[in-house]
Amino acid sequence: MKICMIGAGYVGLVSAACFSDFGWNVVCVDKDEGRLAQLHRGEIPIYEPGLDDLVARNVAAGRIQFSGSLAESVQDADVVFLAVGTPVRRGDGYADLTFVFEAVEELAPHLRDGVVITTKSTVPVGTGREIERRLKALRPDADFAVCSNPEFLREGSAIRDFTHPDRVLVGCDNGRGRDVMARLYEPLSLRNAPIMFVSRESAELAKYAANSFLAMKITFINEIADLCEEVGADVSEVATAVGADGRIGPKFLNPGPGYGGSCFPKDVSALARTAREAKAPITLVEQVEKVNMERKIAMGARVERAAGGSVQGKTVAVLGVTFKPNTDDMRDAPSLVILPMLQSRGAKIRACDPQGRTQAEPLLPDVEWYVDPMEAARDADVLLVLTEWNEFRALDLKKLRSVMNGDVLVDLRNVYAPKLAAEAGFTYMGVGRGQTT
Ligand code: NAD
Repeated sequence: MKICMIGAGYVGLVSAACFSDFGWNVVCVDKDEGRLAQLHRGEIPIYEPGLDDLVARNVAAGRIQFSGSLAESVQDADVVFLAVGTPVRRGDGYADLTFVFEAVEELAPHLRDGVVITTKSTVPVGTGREIERRLKALRPDADFAVCSNPEFLREGSAIRDFTHPDRVLVGCDNGRGRDVMARLYEPLSLRNAPIMFVSRESAELAKYAANSFLAMKITFINEIADLCEEVGADVSEVATAVGADGRIGPKFLNPGPGYGGSCFPKDVSALARTAREAKAPITLVEQVEKVNMERKIAMGARVERAAGGSVQGKTVAVLGVTFKPNTDDMRDAPSLVILPMLQSRGAKIRACDPQGRTQAEPLLPDVEWYVDPMEAARDADVLLVLTEWNEFRALDLKKLRSVMNGDVLVDLRNVYAPKLAAEAGFTYMGVGRGQTT
């Protein structure tokens, strides 16, 4: 089976590498020349644990290639995946499908008969139908099927998620398309991964519903955390008790500075707008979007409060700027709201992140960067934990406190035990742990 993967980003590159590891022949196409040059040099343009080895192994075996030519790469493919970005559209919050439709127009003249075109990108319900309509208009002679195969992998554990999925979801209304997709994912059947075949519309909508549900779960526990602080409860105890219920489950019940990343914010926004347009508004999802936006600002205000009411002239040392650990992705990270807010109130920011600096630096001007958390904390008035990287979990708190000027520790990921932080001399403020000062 020959696969053409359009897009060598977090989803396209991981999917291409995993498919090639299954034994399929993959060409991964990207129009970003810098990204392509890196791949040709054997460098991985994104940080994803294990991806460098996986790609190197399959390049050496001749199963994966990289190309800038969509025309050449598409013409002998059995399956063409669209794994291009679908960011939020400026102004109205809908999914921007420019990259998807540009790729469709580009590939249309080169399709061979029998090919299956599949969206791996997250696309609004109805996009598969629209792709099919456009392709038919451009190539009335061609024999093809259009499927939806939304991707559920998470950055940071993408390879494991791809190779051990909870489910593979395929939306397809065409018998041959379904057969090809079943064959493609056959290697996963050894791991008993359920492959679910549904209608194209159901697959497209399921992806948005899943991400919005997870965003809602995070937002829910964030609000429960706020309540915990007012009534003297501990959110980790509440979350453990709630999550032990099999109907709810323990995941995504960790409070924090608000969800971010390349998917949840844009997918929640797009679902809310799709639903409004379809005259079936999901007010719950609209509220999630609003509450999450407000949360990031509230967390900035929390730092100010912890610093005694103002950060004017104070130095805040920040541990972690990416939206979660084990990725370098900065898209919609809470740090992008919280840190500029603190700067606008007069704070000086020193930051440290194990992988995020390259992407973060242009997005966070006037931040001083350090490799070592101890150096970032030197002479700071406030220590702020924004991302729970493993590298920050076992820091010597006493030593940290000793190099700092102030004693305030704002831990927006509840990484540290309040008692240990207090013993190290910190005035500790976590999330949902009672004290808010
Ligand atoms: P990304 O921005 O990292 O990668 C997209 C790549 O596509 C870029 O390298 C870009 O240069 C390339 N591209 C765009 N147009 C092209 C064209 N015409 N020809 C060739 N290459 C082209 O995006 P991503 O994070 O991989 O996300 C891709 C899609 O997958 C999005 O719809 C996203 O919502 C979805 N998704 C992402 C994740 C995630 O964790 N990142 C998880 C599940 C689903």
